[in-house]
Amino acid sequence: MKMLRSLVKLEGQNFLQKCVFSQTKRTYSKKDTPKKIIPFGKDPKSIISKRIQNSLEKVKEALVVREVDDILTEWMGRPQIVPQICDVVIIGGGAIGSSIAYWLRRRVYAEEFKVVVVERDPMYTTASTTLSVGGLRQQFSLKENIEMSLFGAEFLRNVNNYLGIEGEPPVDVCFHPYGYLTLASEKGAATLVENSKLQNFLGAKNILLSPAKLKDVFPWINTEGIELGCLGLEKEGWFDPWALLSAFKRKAIILGAKYISGEAQGFFYKESGDALDGLIIKTKEGEICNMKFAIAIVAAGAFSGQVVANVKAEDKLEQISLPVEPRKRYVYCFHCPDGPGLNTPLTIDYTGTYFRREGLAGTYICGRSPEESEEPSIEDLSVDHDYFDEKVWPILAQRIPAFEKLKLRSSWAGYYEYNTFDKNGIIGVHPYYQNLIFATGFSGHGIQQSPAVGRAISELIVDGEFKTLDLSNLDFKRIIYSKPMCEVNIV
Ligand SMILES: Cc1cc2nc3c(=O)[nH]c(=O)nc-3n(C[C@H](O)[C@H](O)[C@H](O)COP(=O)(O)OP(=O)(O)OC[C@H]3O[C@@H](n4cnc5c(N)ncnc54)[C@H](O)[C@@H]3O)c2cc1C
Repeated sequence: MKMLRSLVKLEGQNFLQKCVFSQTKRTYSKKDTPKKIIPFGKDPKSIISKRIQNSLEKVKEALVVREVDDILTEWMGRPQIVPQICDVVIIGGGAIGSSIAYWLRRRVYAEEFKVVVVERDPMYTTASTTLSVGGLRQQFSLKENIEMSLFGAEFLRNVNNYLGIEGEPPVDVCFHPYGYLTLASEKGAATLVENSKLQNFLGAKNILLSPAKLKDVFPWINTEGIELGCLGLEKEGWFDPWALLSAFKRKAIILGAKYISGEAQGFFYKESGDALDGLIIKTKEGEICNMKFAIAIVAAGAFSGQVVANVKAEDKLEQISLPVEPRKRYVYCFHCPDGPGLNTPLTIDYTGTYFRREGLAGTYICGRSPEESEEPSIEDLSVDHDYFDEKVWPILAQRIPAFEKLKLRSSWAGYYEYNTFDKNGIIGVHPYYQNLIFATGFSGHGIQQSPAVGRAISELIVDGEFKTLDLSNLDFKRIIYSKPMCEVNIV
């Protein structure tokens, strides 16, 4: 609670003690208590036994274990009460925000520690999490990314130890452990070797394959132009992002986090001017509410830059902009009964074009990030099918000749929360407002890192520093000092 405590000092009194929700219970003073009139001629003993019976009924009712779904429906259905004050507010309830809520409540399981998640789209129709491909790999070039994904793998393997709820069916994130296969041309081969060394050193398990060996293991591949491949042997594959998000959220709620359906629209400030004091929220009912907080966390995915643009900026230090913006990415789903089949890793061609199996019935999904000059409009999530015909299919068909005969079935688009500075997560404190924390900018690899990011932010708040993984290189300071943390393997 180091960070909370230093904020408490700012306040001059215990913040946690002040954190009382506006929902107050109605209490009667003794003299207000309406007197019960015993009807003339009734036996007071039978009245007492009836009262005991009634009380027993109430105790029984209170003991009934409520279904988690009921609690969630309550959040969706009923008019919500926005707390006037909380300890930590998380802006955005996607995988990152919900993971943070879970870890915070897991670390501090005290009722008076109020964690509120503000989410403007509770159905997650445009959230990156639900529109993602759900890949998990350690084939990165940065130590921090490799380590976060290693923890992601450990977390998913033991997901029920973390997110399981007693009396509920076990959590199933549908992990498919078929690995990643990264292909390199002559130009990228040396880097692939270097990265593989680092990945294995840190605990990943992958091997390098020559073109002949590739052809041997994956006869469906055309090795023309390939110098080397790197195949993940364990801890890599893909999973269901929606299942992970739901599990994070259910567990966070069970542990006491509160979700508010509304949009964060701005902040208000302490009189001293050196800290944020509260959040302005427009609820789904259209009401504008002010909620005081000790700490705010920006986990608004692709829209995090917009949230931070609302922070008042009067002098130079305050005038920071968060370089995170939405970038539209298409995912195409196609059918190809003669395709590679079961033993198919998520394969990334050296052009950046990727594909993976989707289920067991000859269906695949694929995509490719456009060149900077080709970036599509982000106005809506419509899909450009010409992009598939012109930029994706030709590469796929060249690499896997069976894909020549594929049939496009469906498609969708989602937003990468794209960090224009160095395409990596920004995890740390605002340089001026010390009670504003960033957890965003993961640029297409955030869902697999959500367990590690949630844990890291909880450490920053509760312990005052990163404890398990040192993510200080991903702090906002790198942007001020112009020291990018460049990741080679961005898809
Ligand atoms: C096509 C595609 C494929 C991907 N593939 C992978 C992959 O294979 N592996 C991987 O690890 N990652 C992948 N990603 C990236 C991954 O989806 C993201 O990094 C991750 O989901 C980010 O989670 P988040 O919680 O930060 O963002 P989101 O899931 O977008 O959640 C942010 C939430 O904030 C809410 N919000 C925004 N503004 C406000 C506001 N003002 N007030 C209140 N709420 C607000 C939004 O409604 C949203 O629900 C992919 C992304 C896309 C688009």
